[in-house]
Amino acid sequence: MPAEAAATKNTAAAADTLVVVDDAACTGCGACVEICPAGALRLEGGLARVDPRACLGCGICVPECPVQALSQRGTAVRG
Ligand code: SF4
Ligand code: SF4
Repeated sequence: MPAEAAATKNTAAAADTLVVVDDAACTGCGACVEICPAGALRLEGGLARVDPRACLGCGICVPECPVQALSQRGTAVRG
């Protein structure tokens, strides 16, 4: 596996995901994981991760985060 693939994580994926996690702010509480209707969020290494292929851009997770670690970049709805 190329080195850049391992380094992709959230930052590089942010270009094509509708919700971005601020890794510095996320406490790994899991509240967003519980609320996401699409199952697009999961915890990985104590941080929330968004699956850009699954995220609907509904924005429900954003106000759910107690430390404002989530921000919405778009509202496009996947077909
Ligand atoms: S915007 Fe909606 S679908 Fe996307 S991660 Fe948040 S709750 Fe899940
Ligand atoms: S709700 Fe916020 S702090 Fe909790 S896991 Fe999700 S992004 Fe992290």
